[in-house]
Amino acid sequence: MKKEIIIIGSGFSSLAASCYLAKAGYNVTLLEKNNTIGGRARQLVKDGFTFDIGPTWYWMPDVFERFFNDFDKKPSDYYSLEKLNPAYSVYFGKNDYITIEDTLAKISEAFEKEEPGSSKKLNTFIEKAKSNYDIAIKDLVYNPGVSPLELVTIATIKKLDQFFSNIKRDVRKEFKNERLVKILEFPVLFLGAKPSDTPSFYSFMNYADFGLGTFHPKKGMYQVILALENLAKSLGVIIKTNAPIEKIIIENNEVKGVISNGKTINTNIVVSGADYHHTETLLDKTYRQYSESYWSKKTFAPSSLLFYVGFDKKIQNVNHHTLFFDVDFDVHAEAIYDTPKWPEEPLFYASFPSITDANSAPEGKEAGIFLIPLAPGLEDTEALREAYFEKIMTRFEALTSQNIKKHVIFKESFCINDFIKDYNSYKGNAYGMANTITQTAFLRPKLKSKKVKGLFFTGQLTVPGPGVPPSLISGKLVADLVTKHHSL
Ligand SMILES: Cc1cc2nc3c(=O)[nH]c(=O)nc-3n(C[C@H](O)[C@H](O)[C@H](O)COP(=O)(O)OP(=O)(O)OC[C@H]3O[C@@H](n4cnc5c(N)ncnc54)[C@H](O)[C@@H]3O)c2cc1C
Repeated sequence: MKKEIIIIGSGFSSLAASCYLAKAGYNVTLLEKNNTIGGRARQLVKDGFTFDIGPTWYWMPDVFERFFNDFDKKPSDYYSLEKLNPAYSVYFGKNDYITIEDTLAKISEAFEKEEPGSSKKLNTFIEKAKSNYDIAIKDLVYNPGVSPLELVTIATIKKLDQFFSNIKRDVRKEFKNERLVKILEFPVLFLGAKPSDTPSFYSFMNYADFGLGTFHPKKGMYQVILALENLAKSLGVIIKTNAPIEKIIIENNEVKGVISNGKTINTNIVVSGADYHHTETLLDKTYRQYSESYWSKKTFAPSSLLFYVGFDKKIQNVNHHTLFFDVDFDVHAEAIYDTPKWPEEPLFYASFPSITDANSAPEGKEAGIFLIPLAPGLEDTEALREAYFEKIMTRFEALTSQNIKKHVIFKESFCINDFIKDYNSYKGNAYGMANTITQTAFLRPKLKSKKVKGLFFTGQLTVPGPGVPPSLISGKLVADLVTKHHSL
């Protein structure tokens, strides 16, 4: 008889794991607490507007290709990708922005205009970043984080110094222009920590940015979730929504089943893609591996205040992805990481998918997504959300020279309390645990429980870390461990 596996959650990591495990021959059932699949990558459809609730940047297309290739498929079997040009623009002041285009040659020209001599330095910097990318993707991120020896390869030994320096230091050593510095420090924000706390090796994110580029799946990132659902179902995975797991049943240190909606489901293998901390609360205390004090000491990726806005006109002077870096990042970062509080003057990000995708807003209208990074665990009230909406709308109007407030048809917000309620997220973090030097690879929470036979974890709190591509990889890594320890 085939072995039964229950997978908790339906985010990228759970869906990816379900595909690998079904292909390996297990009977896989995926149980999601919400009424739709996708986890943090769900979709909001309202009054003819469509928004991705979570991820909007499709980076590292090679990781998606490798995933689908494992099933003899290609991304284009499920969705069509467009390379964005411009990739994004960054505002530094009123009508003052730098546009990042779609090739390194064009980006170099933009750099040269800003700081004469910088294009040569940029090319050297990106060459190094590419070499890191090749090592990371070939040798490192596909390791299960079981042993420190995974990090020791001929290639990584040569780069040892890069694990002890940081991105901030490296960028500032080469570039003096504050605007270029901010642009080069931006990609590592996806890893959840300050550039000063992110090892130099992670400059591979700069290669992902300038070398590989920014893509957009037609109709949005949610199409990738639908692709995974389609693939999973074709492999025999059963997907159930409105199916919260209330308890994982353990007897004599072995998984015996789960309780969902009050009913017991027998199984000897559980893979959880729900937030790690939450999953452990589904266990009796003796079976938890990490204490509350362990979690409280970790550097979590930021939470976010998000707005999904329908505008009754097209918005001017912006690109599909637009960053607003007109205020001091260090001050905002301090409010996220050092003394958690609502930032006085936040940096923010805006996305207008309807610039690329006519379908995501009615004709002549615009869909806008706004994101302010915040420290996890802050007080979250309607009044605060409203005050910050007003703050960024006012700045947006001044910086881009147009009125938008009176063109808002509707707005929906999503913040810390929603991350907790919708995803059981620890302190309402948006994208897991940061990749700092002490929270990398084998130093992250483990994929396989050390205390309970048959219990596995996947997703952005474990290896390799935050982001959609790492979540796909995490699903593969956990599936490999399950097949190794519970062969059919
Ligand atoms: C606002 C935002 C913007 C982002 N932007 C980007 C981006 O542009 N590019 C990028 O690559 N990445 C981005 N990310 C990160 C990326 O979205 C995540 O890393 C990834 O989606 C996480 O997938 P996951 O499977 O680890 O977790 P999740 O997507 O959180 O999935 C976990 C699932 O478990 C479910 N669950 C929880 N508890 C239970 C329970 N008890 N029973 C059943 N189900 C349960 C949850 O409902 C959820 O569906 C962003 C994230 C956010 C929040």
